[in-house]
Amino acid sequence: MPFLIRRKNTCPIKVGNVTVGGNAPIAVQSMTNTFTQDVPATVSQIHRLETAGCEIVRVAVPDQEAAEAISSIKKKVSIPIIADIHFDYRLALAAIKSGADGLRLNPGNIGGHKKIKAVVDCAKTFNIPIRIGVNAGSLEKDILKKYNGVSAEGMVESAMRHIDLIKSLDFHNIKISMKASDVHRTVEAYRLISSKTDLPLHVGVTEAGGLYSGIAKSSLGIGMLLAEGIGDTIRVSLTRDPVEEVRVGYEILKALDIRRYGPDIISCPTCGRCKIDLFNIVERIEKALLLNPVPIKVAIMGCIVNGPGEAKEADIGIAGGDGTGILFKKGKVIKKFPEEKLVEVLLAEVEKFDNYRNSEWANKTKLR
Ligand code: SF4
Repeated sequence: MPFLIRRKNTCPIKVGNVTVGGNAPIAVQSMTNTFTQDVPATVSQIHRLETAGCEIVRVAVPDQEAAEAISSIKKKVSIPIIADIHFDYRLALAAIKSGADGLRLNPGNIGGHKKIKAVVDCAKTFNIPIRIGVNAGSLEKDILKKYNGVSAEGMVESAMRHIDLIKSLDFHNIKISMKASDVHRTVEAYRLISSKTDLPLHVGVTEAGGLYSGIAKSSLGIGMLLAEGIGDTIRVSLTRDPVEEVRVGYEILKALDIRRYGPDIISCPTCGRCKIDLFNIVERIEKALLLNPVPIKVAIMGCIVNGPGEAKEADIGIAGGDGTGILFKKGKVIKKFPEEKLVEVLLAEVEKFDNYRNSEWANKTKLR
């Protein structure tokens, strides 16, 4: 019996051409780390993100030049761009007029009612959504006092305050994020806000760290929430190339069987029965299939005796030892060949795989 996740039915919004919330697929997003005003560098990074499957990208808007650069960037990329605004409401106005598909801001640090109204009115005119991003590190003083420091309850109270304010301006094109660098607090805050509003949620653990801690914290925080049906778009936060964030985002969705995107690699940890260089074989195959968006379960197993049985769910698999390689499908051996051809045979078989052959991507490029 497949594990069934009952996803909460939130009110969908449009970020450019991407629907977030409702029944739409959970969108994977990231953020550039180039200087936004450096248009060639930012466009080049967004192209790499698009190739990795990124569906929405956020750019920092620290000054007027960055806000104006959005119009040049947008001409060269195809995914929606969110402008990340802090403190200066004029940058929000400039980013919207430059063509941003959405804003991410914390109304608490934008200024008084007049300034917030100016931003909301402009977003309404251009019909773009606003993400209210509450961060544990920037809660209002009165909330910190009330809850005796940072707490999930305080984060939710802050978010509800901002939601009510923006809704009172007759603006409903909103999504919410509630980020903390602590997994427990993040999860608790999202659970609580999800029980109070049907607005779509952008889920992530902020400042999660480098590769290992970032992947562990993001997978746990995002994964726990998605498994409970909470979350409409995700951003993995890593102190790394943002392309890695997108890859990890899809791995989380694949691990929970929420979205299938690209190869799902099943490989054994090896043991005393393994007589092939499995680490190297897996690395070569992962590299070769890195940009393939077609969903396929590929098994790469360390021994002929147990491999096919242990990876029955794979669409295609290989195993080897004692000079012989085998190819199996759904646990059944269908071909034997010399062991040195393991990688070659598997990649040729992936190429033949129906989904792959019929995919748009396959028509555009070659596997190797
Ligand atoms: S597939 Fe074979 S080599 Fe790999 S862990 Fe299982 S028994 Fe060991």
